[in-house]
Amino acid sequence: MKKILITGGAGFIGSHLSERLLNEGNEVICLDNFFTGSKKNIIHLLDNPYFELVRHDVTMPYFIEVDQIYNLACPASPIHYQYNPIKTIKTSVMGAINMLGLAKRINARILQASTSEVYGDPVVHPQTEDYWGNVNPWGPRSCYDEGKRSAETLFMDYNKQNNVDIKVIRIFNTYGPRMHPNDGRVVSNFIIQALKNQDITIYGDGMQSRSFQYVDDLLEGMIRMMNSQDGFTGPVNIGNPNEFTIKELAQKIIELTGSKSKITYLAPTQDDPSQRQPNISLAKKMLDSWEPKIQLEEGLLKTIEYFKEII
Ligand code: NAD
Ligand code: UDP
Repeated sequence: MKKILITGGAGFIGSHLSERLLNEGNEVICLDNFFTGSKKNIIHLLDNPYFELVRHDVTMPYFIEVDQIYNLACPASPIHYQYNPIKTIKTSVMGAINMLGLAKRINARILQASTSEVYGDPVVHPQTEDYWGNVNPWGPRSCYDEGKRSAETLFMDYNKQNNVDIKVIRIFNTYGPRMHPNDGRVVSNFIIQALKNQDITIYGDGMQSRSFQYVDDLLEGMIRMMNSQDGFTGPVNIGNPNEFTIKELAQKIIELTGSKSKITYLAPTQDDPSQRQPNISLAKKMLDSWEPKIQLEEGLLKTIEYFKEII
């Protein structure tokens, strides 16, 4: 049994991770300021004596003795991270400093939830970890992209300078039950619109692509990375390489829900990456042949069931 701290543990990914690590017999401390996360996501865990919930903001130091830290605290959807951009970059940078300082002090292993957004609007396709990215330093997405890039820098420097035991994963678009219904991400938006027979809103011409990963596949990769061999720091891509255009996604969701929705095309959003697909060779090699198991249709059906229940 390990004692594990999860920052952002009441969010979409953090709540699934909390549940899985508890089920595997660990003690979990979930730290969250409830900006985008919610007690509802973890309410079913509250009567487990090995689960603790702490209301705290990662921009402030926090002290505890644990074996491992998963650093997930940060709003992840464009409308939430753009709501207060200064707070977003503070969360990434000061959160990383505070959690790395803690890991150093208590000798814990720490994993950073970085993102495919570090590649920005990529000119290398599919993206490999050695690609440095194409990121606007002051556009609407920069508070998130540059915050996450700075956090990666901090993780690497704490490792080189202070020998902190770090792991960095770059997560590609992930979906599943407990996504926030109002966070504006494409999978949740399209499913909700389809279930309500409302217009499906495509920003731009719908030819931009994303590669969608079901949350359970991410958890498997994330936990394998946390427990990977000493000295392997990453960064490593964790995503599903099956790439779809946003128009294909809309059509698939209309088909799976049997919806009467029509597609409508709205103005493109500024700095929207035109393509995104992970090369996962490194993850396969270093994480015991890890690869995603749940393909889009199966994952969407599970997610549609969830949204049917909550709306
Ligand atoms: P989410 O918004 O559901 O979860 C983020 C959690 O962090 C929320 O519970 C929120 O309340 C909490 N939080 C935000 N600011 C905080 C602060 N200052 N102090 C403490 N808690 C704070 O998003 P998610 O999709 O679960 O993402 C989790 C992590 O994974 C994020 O770091 C995100 O950048 C990363 N990620 C997610 C995706 C994706 O597709 N979902 C892709 C790449 C990276
Ligand atoms: N998108 C869209 N309609 C929506 C929500 C999103 O066309 O209602 C597009 C968005 O412009 C982007 C893609 O879907 O090209 C993925 O958007 P999301 O916010 O889910 O993730 P990210 O852009 O951060 O990868």
